Amino acid sequence: MVAVADDRGKPLGTALYSSASQIAIRMISSRAVHDFPGLIRERIAAATTYRGRVVSDSDAYRLVFSEADFLPGLIIDRYHEVLSLQILTQAMDSETARAAILSGLEELKPAGIIERVDARIRELEQLPGRESGLLWGENSSTTFAMNGVRFHYEALQGQKTGAFLDQRENYAAAARHARGEALDVFCYQGGFALHMAERCKSVTGVDSSRGALEVAEQNAKLNGREIEWMEANAFDLLRDYSAGGRQYDTLVLDPPAFAKSKQNLDTALRGYKELNLRALKMLRPGGTLVTCSCSYHVSPVAFLAMVSEAAQDAHRAARILESRGQAKDHPVLLGVPETGYLKCLIIHVS
Ligand code: SAH
Repeated sequence: MVAVADDRGKPLGTALYSSASQIAIRMISSRAVHDFPGLIRERIAAATTYRGRVVSDSDAYRLVFSEADFLPGLIIDRYHEVLSLQILTQAMDSETARAAILSGLEELKPAGIIERVDARIRELEQLPGRESGLLWGENSSTTFAMNGVRFHYEALQGQKTGAFLDQRENYAAAARHARGEALDVFCYQGGFALHMAERCKSVTGVDSSRGALEVAEQNAKLNGREIEWMEANAFDLLRDYSAGGRQYDTLVLDPPAFAKSKQNLDTALRGYKELNLRALKMLRPGGTLVTCSCSYHVSPVAFLAMVSEAAQDAHRAARILESRGQAKDHPVLLGVPETGYLKCLIIHVS
């Protein structure tokens, strides 16, 4: 912890310091902090109370979202009775912080607390290597439910899994608009596909990861649904399908973040536009496009402009049914724009 002052020496508060990061300090309080472990436990409790207010119909959600919960460098996800934590900074990796995090979480009486380690982040923060593993309790796998749809969660054995919890409210929204024949592109473990299955005549999910599709099929079985899963490169598949005149009533695009930095924003936008253009061409009149971007560097305005250009190029009239962001358990903190990153537009195409 370091005390922060302005250039005239006026105290601004307390921050966590990293000797390795490009973000040297991350503010944790506008006051002096004497009891860091106490502060961590208090903020975990406050984050839990907040989730109690904004999350319903789900036992899986982000419990702590770093800066947005005033605990920079700490992410905690809850999957039913299993808690999964990620530590992203030197300060949160200290023995003091780790002990406080665990004691704050044990109060929630989980069946297991696991740590997911991102080797690259530990390298950037110049932290010693560490393995993912169980930190407390016994369970590292479970099933969880969102909006009445069930999913497998397997933290440590075999393929590491975890859901895109930030899409939880968008899944429910997509399901409200979905109908007919649906295609979920970049489906991962089937989040959108499974939610749309109840409303649609048929659903196909496409992803390039065989491991993700295997879990998707297990999830379909868990929910008693029949969904077709296809292992394919989405760009190739959409090119072939749109050239071949394939048509759908509902189409979801939820690609990985193409713009990892400001430098490749133009390339990223070209990638998004190609996907959206082909998807728009493939929709039957009256169809619905659910299109997402989780790139922070693609602003909501740039995203909307890209979809708008794609619609123009596809010669399709498009209306915005819903303009959405990330679920409320991933709060966007005013004054910290980096906390807001997910865009989701639901569009009616005529
Ligand atoms: N819609 C999903 C999340 C998608 S994450 C959900 O709600 O859970 C992005 C997915 O894109 C990953 O599963 C990844 O395997 C897949 N992917 C990345 N590049 C791809 C490509 N070129 N073609 C198909 N899938 C790809």
